[in-house]
Amino acid sequence: MNCIFCQIAKKELPATIIYEDESFVAFKDINPIAPIHYLIIPKKHITSINHLELQDKELMGELFLAAKKIAKTQGIADNGYRLVFNVGKDSGQMVDHLHLHLLGGKKLLWS
Ligand code: 5GP
Ligand code: ZN
Repeated sequence: MNCIFCQIAKKELPATIIYEDESFVAFKDINPIAPIHYLIIPKKHITSINHLELQDKELMGELFLAAKKIAKTQGIADNGYRLVFNVGKDSGQMVDHLHLHLLGGKKLLWS
């Protein structure tokens, strides 16, 4: 499968990785829209939230715990941050490997 985020997770493509554990990798977005803009991905290929299965429920819980941990270690937990999943074409999802955007480092406005 030709998935760029699977390739980043396997270190076959370069990325600035800021966190990794058994199940997830987090790295800097190549085109950041906030001072802090990371993408947190499961190492397992899941196309989008639309493709989640019951067996993924523990993994998804762990994804939020990883996001919480990263926000804390990156120093934005107290000021706050935004977590975003894009799902499908109307959302503008460009990469078909489930990813959680972690945005922070400034006051975020809806746009
Ligand atoms: P989406 O719109 O699919 O939710 O967001 C995909 C994100 O991945 C975009 O913010 C885009 O800038 C980022 N992105 C796309 N290709 C790459 C890449 O090769 N490396 C990194 N680090 N980010 C990427
Ligand atoms: Zn993938």
